[in-house]
Amino acid sequence: MEDRAVGGHMTPEEFRRRGRQAIDWIADYYERIETFPVLSRVKPGEIRAMLPADPPETGEEFDAVLADLDRVILPGITHWQAPGFFAYFPANASGPSILGELLSAGLGVQGMLWSTSPACTELETHLMDWLVGMLGLPERFRSDRSGGGVIQDTASSAALCALHAARERAPAGGRPLAAYASAQAHSSIEKGIRVAGIGRENLRLVPVDDRHAMRPDLLAEAIDADRRAGKVPFFVCATIGTTSSHAIDPLPAIGPICRREDLWLHVDAAMAGTAAICPEHRWILGGLESADSFCFNPHKWMFTNFDCDCFWVADRKGLIDSLSILPDYLRNRATESGAVIDYRDWHIPLGRRFRALKLWLVIRHYGVEGLRRAVREHVRIAQDLAGWIEADPRFELVVPPPLNLVCFRLAADDGANQRLLEAVNDSGRIFLTQTRLGDRMALRMSVGGTLTRRVHVRDAWDRIRAAAAAAAGEAPAPPR
Ligand code: PLP
Repeated sequence: MEDRAVGGHMTPEEFRRRGRQAIDWIADYYERIETFPVLSRVKPGEIRAMLPADPPETGEEFDAVLADLDRVILPGITHWQAPGFFAYFPANASGPSILGELLSAGLGVQGMLWSTSPACTELETHLMDWLVGMLGLPERFRSDRSGGGVIQDTASSAALCALHAARERAPAGGRPLAAYASAQAHSSIEKGIRVAGIGRENLRLVPVDDRHAMRPDLLAEAIDADRRAGKVPFFVCATIGTTSSHAIDPLPAIGPICRREDLWLHVDAAMAGTAAICPEHRWILGGLESADSFCFNPHKWMFTNFDCDCFWVADRKGLIDSLSILPDYLRNRATESGAVIDYRDWHIPLGRRFRALKLWLVIRHYGVEGLRRAVREHVRIAQDLAGWIEADPRFELVVPPPLNLVCFRLAADDGANQRLLEAVNDSGRIFLTQTRLGDRMALRMSVGGTLTRRVHVRDAWDRIRAAAAAAAGEAPAPPR
């Protein structure tokens, strides 16, 4: 305890020393990341059983904490950053982003108001404008036009804010509202509908076509039917890159319906949106000019640590009016001048972290061209994987992958696919998840890890084929 200053706080010198140890620990973790089973193997309660029943009465040494990181925490980690992690969607962290998080923690800023740290607000506004150009978003999303962007924690929060602003704009007059999303939309839309008090019974899940994208003709029919029933259609969520299969809802057809019917169009591009930094993938956002709001998650596929969702609105006044409350204790001269952005009015919580810092470090470290290169590489590898699957008669490609998410299955029943999934995940080398498309199970491989290279995807595919062969009694089981 010799390093402790008055009050038990770390001295700057101790912080410097311990900080270096922590950074070394992280660097060592990345060096040995491939030695751990990707999916944690602990049983429920095992981690808690290793923790003392009571908190320490007196402070402990940092070395003891670091040792417990290895002993207690690591066994309970599912290694999202491992190159063999292909489950769900990526959450691809990176060196510059981790350092950005550290610097943000070091500053310890709470950026609820412009005046509580002008740099926190202005850097964020500036980056959101940069991203409008980087992704080729409509100019009206820029802060010097009618719109503007804000960093939210998640796409779920972005959808809730969009729903809230849309509801305030809707001429309901006490009548029930109706909202629309495709049957493949993310569950966060239904959650937002419930949280906003609109009621699950007022959410229409519009059927999809054979590529699992929303059918605009059936959207128009559902809106008509609701109007005839006395409801007030007010909100449509279109998804660019659905969670299950990366289906792209057709904005060029959905947008005009929303304009004609005066409905708020929210576009959720949580994972796929990153691809728009590459001009050749920008087609996915064709028709976005009609959108009232848009979000994508750099915390999924843009090398930015969780949490970081970028959310834009075309009409910032509508959003702010729907969320702004100004109690006396938050009043200040800058706010009252009307010349600044107070981001507390752009989302649900009051307090906010300095998230823009890590995004700034990421964009400056890679450069836009570096980000494009990484995205292109993931898409290219995923397309190669799709080709290998198509070339193997034991497997079926469930849908052609538009970008970096590949859905496939054994040409067999769901039971055989489930057993295959469990066999490859039990190997510990890779981790895949499943979904249902149509009425059949599909295996999903999401290619977007910072460390994931072609060799890892090839190795994963070899393991999947070996497991399929072993299950069919053709060859020995894959190496564990
Ligand atoms: N929308 C889509 C299309 C997603 O794939 C996901 C997550 O998988 C979400 C929304 C929710 O993301 P978040 O965790 O940022 O709320």
